[in-house]
Amino acid sequence: MIVGMEEAQPSVTILVPMYNEEAVLELFYAELNRVIDTIPGVDFTYLFIDDGSRDASLSIVKNFAENDSRVDYLALSRNFGKERALLAGFDHVGTDAVVVIDADLQDPPALIAEMIGYWREGYQDVYAQRRTRQGETWMKRATSNAYYRVLQSVTRVEIQANTGDYRLLDRACLDALTRFRESERNTKALFSWIGFRKKAILFDRDPRAAGKSKFNYWRLTNLALDGITSFTTAPLRVSGVFGAVVSLVAFIYLLVIVVRALLFGSDAAGYPSLMAVILFLGGVQLMSLGAIGEYVGRIFNETKNRPPYLVGENNLGEIPGLGRRGHDDTPGQAGQ
Ligand code: UDP
Ligand code: MG
Repeated sequence: MIVGMEEAQPSVTILVPMYNEEAVLELFYAELNRVIDTIPGVDFTYLFIDDGSRDASLSIVKNFAENDSRVDYLALSRNFGKERALLAGFDHVGTDAVVVIDADLQDPPALIAEMIGYWREGYQDVYAQRRTRQGETWMKRATSNAYYRVLQSVTRVEIQANTGDYRLLDRACLDALTRFRESERNTKALFSWIGFRKKAILFDRDPRAAGKSKFNYWRLTNLALDGITSFTTAPLRVSGVFGAVVSLVAFIYLLVIVVRALLFGSDAAGYPSLMAVILFLGGVQLMSLGAIGEYVGRIFNETKNRPPYLVGENNLGEIPGLGRRGHDDTPGQAGQ
């Protein structure tokens, strides 16, 4: 082979966030290798982001890296959550494009060939959209449908429903995404927000190959709230509008009572209705306070301006403890 004569091949990183995935990693890696070997004309590399696993995940991946020069890994200093693990990944991707894929084989690797096909046609964000959701309860499906509908109704940004993080992103998308340094991240919301030429591929999501889901209802609820606050301040407006409507109705009712008292004299009855109104309004006020609190809490967290993640062990030449190469996430560090 004459070095330097052949045209440079496009390069793609397979980005894998992982948290306690020792049960599936070997299978995942074998399966992925099988798939990428069938895709010609692309230089593939792996980037495993170990999100503070407490099992053997990291050592398994280190083992891959020892035998395969295409494998890179970056461990975070603790569990930061998938969203920030993905940011850490985006920060360290040096290739023309990236494919984000879960380690549990719920995202069928076979789709990668199709994604790359569309990428070659000029699409910049080729995402896998679920046709069905096997292995998920009726309840999870219903809540997720309702969630997407509510979210779409409050924002001008086009939301991709039934879409996970499994997708191919080109360099332009990557560069855009790494500019979002917010720490309360909802990456799905950001994928929609950035725009660019998007293409959906339909697929059937399989149940996990092994191991357990790390997302319980509580974590999903938090993620959903991050999604809403990341898109819109509508909840604040809703409480404002509701307050105005209630005040108006209350004012009319007040006039009615006063006029009635003047004409017919007052009666002392009405304790149950009084109680109902007080309790109802108390509830509404607490809810509005809660909505405000959600935003204030996020303001608080963002103003602390903490680095979104810290780097631990890795084979990328990163010094553990810093945010990312050539980038200053830590406020005050540059100027002092
Ligand atoms: N994950 C992660 N950090 C976390 C939780 C999950 O990096 O704190 C990874 C996990 O290892 C997997 C992917 O994110 O590769 C999706 O997680 P999971 O399969 O548990 O979510 P689900 O498919 O149930 O939504
Ligand atoms: Mg999964």
